[in-house]
Amino acid sequence: MKAYENILNLPTPCYVIDEAALIKNLEILQNVEHHTDCHILLAQKAFSSYCTYPLISKYISGTTSSGIFEARLAHEEMGNKQIHVFSPAYKDEDFDELLGICDHIVFNSFSQWKHFRNRALSHGNVEFGLRINPEYSEIETDIYNPCFANSRLGITLDNFEENELEGISGLHFHTMCEQGADTLERTIKVVEEKFGKYLYGMKWLNFGGGHHITKPDYDVDKLIEIVNYIKEKYKLQVYIEPGEAVAVDAGYLVTTILDLTKNGMNLAIADTSAACHMPDVLEMPYRPYIIGSELPYVLPYTYRLGGPTCLAGDIIGDYSFAEKLKIGDKLIFTDMAMYSIVKNNTFNGMPLPDIYLLDKNGNTRLIKKFGYEDFKRRL
Ligand SMILES: *Cc1c(COP(=O)(O)O)cnc(C)c1O
Repeated sequence: MKAYENILNLPTPCYVIDEAALIKNLEILQNVEHHTDCHILLAQKAFSSYCTYPLISKYISGTTSSGIFEARLAHEEMGNKQIHVFSPAYKDEDFDELLGICDHIVFNSFSQWKHFRNRALSHGNVEFGLRINPEYSEIETDIYNPCFANSRLGITLDNFEENELEGISGLHFHTMCEQGADTLERTIKVVEEKFGKYLYGMKWLNFGGGHHITKPDYDVDKLIEIVNYIKEKYKLQVYIEPGEAVAVDAGYLVTTILDLTKNGMNLAIADTSAACHMPDVLEMPYRPYIIGSELPYVLPYTYRLGGPTCLAGDIIGDYSFAEKLKIGDKLIFTDMAMYSIVKNNTFNGMPLPDIYLLDKNGNTRLIKKFGYEDFKRRL
């Protein structure tokens, strides 16, 4: 494929954002908007490569933010689309700026709402919401489960102060992670049981993120059904704020093999690091796919691939290949647009990978180049 040849000629390590793959995801999301009238927002914490914001803004309604910096980025780079923000707690000094640029501000507690309420309500154009915690989720990894015991995220029914709702126009829940419409269906049932009576008085309900809408096996029709059901039953607008679903499978990380050694098995050292350039490999954890590879021992040559840092656990995974690896070979990791560029770091003085865009015609364009100064400036 011409595109892969172009990618393999780039200096490594580098991320490559795949415009055609992004468009494929965005078309699916746009279709959901068309069939439901809901608003889909990019959760910028997953993917904030704003060189693609003009493209994204053609398909979906806007962005959501985790705080002032992401909100400002959306304001600067995504024109006049919707900007929403949720943060577990806002700072006094940021709040006026948020009021100036956001359409929705979602609070995590009644104490935050009461703290900011006067300033909030003196501002005409912004709507305010509360994040609820329905205490139901199907996520098994605690670090990604907003409903685990004593979670600080969202208001439980026990802590819901129904007399403090004046000025609140919507509720928000975020309890999913890489899940299907069947999980949403079961979640919505609990949300209705616990918070349904409040929904009748609201203008909107935000379903949060974690919807795997653009994965091939996702039941888009069921999502459309659920959104329309909620919309009609409670007469409200629905918002969905996926991060992963916007950018899943829409990027690569290209690396060069620096050394090949042995210790009980074949070892390969790449010029990219799990800890620095794809931290979710260690945090989730998961095994990223490399084009042309198989699970260990499926193909004749198996290697344990690790990064060039001093962290013993900086291991990307075990992979088998049809041919022996050679020093200087390049490998392409897939699905490296989301939760990688936004999470990378310069631990061990590792360089940040440059960022390229692979446009829909298969041509690559340099977006950002990083060097020593980027490392030094943060220290
Ligand atoms: C993380 C997050 C999202 C996006 O989640 P994805 O799993 O990337 O879809 C949306 N909303 C909130 C509040 C989040 O914390």
